Amino acid sequence: MSEYHKPLPKPSHFSAPYWEAARRHELKLQKCAGCGAFIYYPRPRCPHCLSENLEWRGVSGRGKLYSYTVVRRASSRSFADAPYVLAIVELEEGPRLTTNLIAPPEQVKIGMPVTVAFDDVTPDHTLVKFKPA
Ligand SMILES: [Zn+2]
Repeated sequence: MSEYHKPLPKPSHFSAPYWEAARRHELKLQKCAGCGAFIYYPRPRCPHCLSENLEWRGVSGRGKLYSYTVVRRASSRSFADAPYVLAIVELEEGPRLTTNLIAPPEQVKIGMPVTVAFDDVTPDHTLVKFKPA
């Protein structure tokens, strides 16, 4: 594995289960026991009903491309692998995740079906990305 130069996630008390699941190549989100909504990003309360009764549940990893942009010029030397696709993916379960879509920019279309792809960027860090389904 080559050396990784981009910023890495720094899990908080609330997001640690998300990143630990990603390392096992599982996509898990908080689910509200009060109203049943899946929630992203991880947080202490449900944004829909304010319940603190949140549980971690596995989700399908399937969704569709809600929006995207193509970064063609790197903002820093760490991101010199441009062009790349910054995306918002809407999961089947409802939440929208900001992520990278692993696909040639010319093949990307709003609404295209996508599926989760785990990228082990270091031995201790796995990033949650998506690819065309
Ligand atoms: Zn709720």
